[in-house]
Parts: sequence; C-alpha cells; structure tokens
Amino acid sequence: MRAMTESNPAADPGLPLVPGRQCGACTLCCKVLNIPALHKPENVWCGHCKQGTGCTIYQSRPEVCRDFYCSYRLSADIPEVWFPLKSKIMLRADPGGIVAFVDPGRPNAWREEPYYSHLRQWATPNAKRGHQVVVVRIGARAIAVLPDGEVDLGALATGDRVLVRANRGPVGLIYEAWKESGPKSAAAGEGTATVSV
Ligand code: SF4
Ligand code: SF4
Repeated sequence: MRAMTESNPAADPGLPLVPGRQCGACTLCCKVLNIPALHKPENVWCGHCKQGTGCTIYQSRPEVCRDFYCSYRLSADIPEVWFPLKSKIMLRADPGGIVAFVDPGRPNAWREEPYYSHLRQWATPNAKRGHQVVVVRIGARAIAVLPDGEVDLGALATGDRVLVRANRGPVGLIYEAWKESGPKSAAAGEGTATVSV
C-alpha cells in the first residue's frame, strides 16, 4: 500500500506502476482492506491514516502496506475513471479475477455507470483474459458479477473463495457462482474460475 500523498512514484522502486498515476488525496485502501499486522479490520479507517493526506507512519508502515498498490495504480488496462478517490471503489487483481472493494459509505457506487458496465464486461470471457471471476465486496457482503447477471453470496470472510462456472444451456451458456471456505473442494472442476476475497 501506498497512501502517502507521494509525488514521486520512483519512491517505490520495483513496482511496475502506471506512469502518470498517483494516489494523490486517495486513501481508500487504508479503509477497505484488513491489515493483520495492525489488527485493523476491513472497512474501518486505519488509525495511522490522515484522510486526504496519507499515512502518518509512512517510513515505518507494515510490509503489507509497502507491498500494496490497487489495480488502478498497477494496470493501464483499468480506465482512468476508476481512480478510487472518485469511483469510491478499490480494485484488487487476483490470479483468478478481480475483487472490487466498495466504500461502505457509498455502497451503491458499483451500480453507477460506467462502473457497472465495466464489471460486466470484465466478467465476460474473451480471448485475451479468458474466464475470470468478478466479485464486488461491500463490507462482508460479496456479490459475484456474471456476464448474464449477478449472484448475492451473502457474507464472506477474508480467505473465502468465490467460484464461477459456465454451463451449457439449451440456448447458450448459463453462469453459476458459489462460495467456499476451508480446503478447496473437488466440486470446482474444469472450467471453474476462482478468486480469494
Ligand atoms: S486505493 Fe489505490 S489509488 Fe487509492 S491510495 Fe490505495 S493504492 Fe493509492
Ligand atoms: S499503516 Fe495504515 S495509513 Fe499507513 S499505509 Fe498502512 S493502512 Fe495506510
């Protein structure tokens, strides 16, 4: 993570940040993420965060904060409109897809445009990225966004998984989503995409 109002991205050597993008006055990751090293749960402000300014312990912030940047900072494929300060949504890439952490102060932000359309687009398999899971987190609640709709999965805990699979129906693909906790089950099967939340 981030959250000094850094004017010099080179202060974090080694991270492939998108040129020209900065955290600026955004501090959303210091609210929505849990930071075990600080015993900070999800969706409460870190006690070291000065909102609109950044981290007050920047030089000694925990390793997990040093290593973290959201997808807006890391991926040029994420459009500028997703700047978390504006969108109120922080994107985190996962090997199996994308988790969109919504600021609980604006729980419906993900339903606004163009955000909702982008989420549906990202949930739709294509040749470049294949099939990926798109999950919206609002507090503990998780919603799987699918190419043909969405599934409210209820409450999930950190480390739980969301799985999505496409099944052949009489007139095309029908998507299903479900959640799992604990050891991976054999039910996943081929063609199932998974993300951890
Ligand atoms: S959510 Fe992203 S843009 Fe905002 S402070 Fe964190 S890393 Fe920077
Ligand atoms: S210590 Fe707190 S304020 Fe500083 S980067 Fe980590 S979560 Fe943000």
